[in-house]
Amino acid sequence: MHHLKTPIGINRKFILISTIFLGLVIGCNHTNQRPRTGNSGAATNPVASNDSAVVKQAINTPARVYAKPEVPVLCYHRIADDRKSDYEVSPATFTSHIKILADSGYHSISPTQLYDYLVHNKALPEKPVMITFDDSRVEHSVVAAPVMEKYGFRGVFFIMTITYNKKNYMTTDQIAQLAKAGHTIGLHSWDHTMVTKYKETADWQKQVAEPKKKLEKIVGKEVEYWAYPNGLYDHKGAEELSKYFKLSFTLTTKRDSIQPLQTVRRMIVPEWTPQGLLKSMRQTFGKKKI
Ligand SMILES: [Zn+2]
Repeated sequence: MHHLKTPIGINRKFILISTIFLGLVIGCNHTNQRPRTGNSGAATNPVASNDSAVVKQAINTPARVYAKPEVPVLCYHRIADDRKSDYEVSPATFTSHIKILADSGYHSISPTQLYDYLVHNKALPEKPVMITFDDSRVEHSVVAAPVMEKYGFRGVFFIMTITYNKKNYMTTDQIAQLAKAGHTIGLHSWDHTMVTKYKETADWQKQVAEPKKKLEKIVGKEVEYWAYPNGLYDHKGAEELSKYFKLSFTLTTKRDSIQPLQTVRRMIVPEWTPQGLLKSMRQTFGKKKI
């Protein structure tokens, strides 16, 4: 390693800057590396790691997170030829959606990339999009994942854990396989009860804490992302979820300005034409360059 002689002035400057940072860190009483945007104190820029005063990365305030251009996040449910509702698409339509995204230069991003963009201002690939799936249906692993992988995309699968190994739903092996293939596994509650109905500690245990632990055992890594059953949230619920997850995803409802990380918007994708999908993405998430 090269050792460069440093002029004394720079050393002084460094000490001065370090002292200022240290003061800020102590003043704001930051002990956790992960920002909890609901806390009134989580609005500073420098942050220290737990064991030293090394300045790591900028952390955006909730207001700054809220003001950033939104990344389009798509949400698919059932994928089948015998469509039963507007929330469903045929396998051919799904394939055409992925193909036009790839042909148009989109890059699929993971929730971790989105988090780092929102919180730490990390750069995203050009034309980012996130592709998510709710309700742990078996076709997500046997139809959707192979199509995405063919185009170099990776998805995010939100698991409702009551469905493990049930007919028409993914087995625990299939879920583990998705994680191994580079997809992200998130939680979608135990039995799809809406967050607005969790009243007691026991509800949070049953719908969030316990299924999260079990799912983490299955995929062999931390489960850091949540999708609200029915997309529904309230402020209290979002605040509570911030203790468990880095990001939580709603549907196209209004975001919570205090908890923007826990109310990331997604768009349900129905049986649109490929061009219709691109148009809706622009209408829903804006045209601002990210
Ligand atoms: Zn759902």
